[in-house]
Amino acid sequence: MNTKESKTVVIIGAGVLSTTFGSMLKEIEPNWNIKLYERLDRPGIESSNERHNAGTGHAALCELNYTVRKPDGSIDIEKAKEINEQFEISKQFWSHLVKNKSISNPKEFIQPLPHISFVRGKNNVQFLKDRYYAMKDFPMFDNIEYTEDIEEMRKWIPLMMKGHNSSDIMAASKINEGTDVNFGELTRKMAKNIEQHPNANVQYNHEVIDFNHRKDGKWEVKVRQRNSGDVQTELADYVFIGAGGGAIPLLQKTGIPESKNLGGFPITGQFLICTNPDTIAKHDAKVYGKEPKGTPPMTVPHLDTRYIDGERTLLFGPFASVGPKFLKNGSNLDLFKSIKPYNITTLLSSAVKNLPLIKYSFDQILMTKEGCMNHLRTFYPEARDEDWQLYTAGKRVQVIKDTPEHGKGYIQFGTEVVNSKDHSIIALLGESPGASTSVSVALEVLEKNFSEYESKWTPKIKKMIPSYGQSLVNDIGLMRTIRKQTSKDLELNYYENK
Ligand SMILES: Cc1cc2nc3c(=O)[nH]c(=O)nc-3n(C[C@H](O)[C@H](O)[C@H](O)COP(=O)(O)OP(=O)(O)OC[C@H]3O[C@@H](n4cnc5c(N)ncnc54)[C@H](O)[C@@H]3O)c2cc1C
Repeated sequence: MNTKESKTVVIIGAGVLSTTFGSMLKEIEPNWNIKLYERLDRPGIESSNERHNAGTGHAALCELNYTVRKPDGSIDIEKAKEINEQFEISKQFWSHLVKNKSISNPKEFIQPLPHISFVRGKNNVQFLKDRYYAMKDFPMFDNIEYTEDIEEMRKWIPLMMKGHNSSDIMAASKINEGTDVNFGELTRKMAKNIEQHPNANVQYNHEVIDFNHRKDGKWEVKVRQRNSGDVQTELADYVFIGAGGGAIPLLQKTGIPESKNLGGFPITGQFLICTNPDTIAKHDAKVYGKEPKGTPPMTVPHLDTRYIDGERTLLFGPFASVGPKFLKNGSNLDLFKSIKPYNITTLLSSAVKNLPLIKYSFDQILMTKEGCMNHLRTFYPEARDEDWQLYTAGKRVQVIKDTPEHGKGYIQFGTEVVNSKDHSIIALLGESPGASTSVSVALEVLEKNFSEYESKWTPKIKKMIPSYGQSLVNDIGLMRTIRKQTSKDLELNYYENK
């Protein structure tokens, strides 16, 4: 459609973030043109693919890095509340898509699964106990259970308790309302939803290679058909760079000032995957441990039941490995090409400031399958080498940038929205809890960049996300109503508060 009011939005990439943004835009501005380009031949093949991430619906139920001990000894659960609310927002949007038949069969992309935290050693046990009391007191988490009793743990995590005895100092906490999410399937469903929109054109095997900002404010986006090599130029009012690991090089090509003092460092995830059906059948939870001191959140070890293609599997990891590619299907020149005269001091400062992290990364690179198995045995002492295979998962490009608060070369964790001053270029950089909070990220994109449409769009967004504009942290009644409804729509378990 081409009217004065209608705009053209070029979306780059068909991962979970772009397809979430596209699905939202399709509903709030059905007359706008969406042109989505994906360099690979299908959606959801890079980090969003079910085999390339851990599929944890991050709701801060078991991830210990979202709750920290404060200097006064108390446990700060503010970050956990924020992450939980963001996941509730994601579930509302997915419920909406299911209810209005934009996507079907929620069981294919989300499954209920207990989320458990497991620790060993006196200090960690004390931390988990204090965290339990802090969380239990807050209605969002009041279904949490805690135990130091090995017999109880045998019921929760029988596989892991084999080889432990009652003199071991251990503790676990559990929330049954956790989930396993197949982000690859969700992405494919949302991509199909966008393809069916009369004003959308989704093209696979099409790689965005360059941009030109015109005097009238529009962007010429150069797109190469990867099979024929033909290059076409698309005119856009807005460009949304949801290219995962490919976002930093694309942002640099726009030449906008916001692309200057930042760079990226690629980290590849690896998991051990269990091949023994008997072992897989004996574990039914996502069990998160405590991350090694001074290491990033992606290093938190976890033993995870997964549901992929209707089958149950078991993963342990992630382990990090380092290589120069920014995308799994990228080029060995990615990292080198991203180093520019304007970001070299940012990258070097980061290297100097983060020596423990660099040491940790090198230790990880040198870790053999045997090293990974030894790590697994701290969770599951009787793990046998022959039952596990090491495989390579997705990439995360760790964003390094200069910030007024942290100075040069700060390593940024979490997903970040970067935009040009005129809001015509919007890029998503960063990583975990990325996929789980993709809906909040898409909302942030709308709020930050399309403020002139606020009054028109807010009622439409409220239809998709009923809690929009209200706080699920402060309004407990609303939180419970929303949770109950999304659990019904997505066929998840809902437990009334005790
Ligand atoms: C090991 C690991 C474990 C993880 N575990 C979890 C987890 O348990 N829970 C969770 O919520 N998150 C997890 N994450 C994070 C999550 O996977 C990512 O945040 C999310 O998938 C990112 O989605 P995306 O759409 O930004 O990127 P992607 O899925 O990578 O999609 C980007 C797309 O852009 C395309 N593209 C790139 N460049 C171009 C170009 N120039 N032109 C056209 N197309 C282009 C790519 O081919 C790709 O399809 C994990 C990540 C890793 C690596």
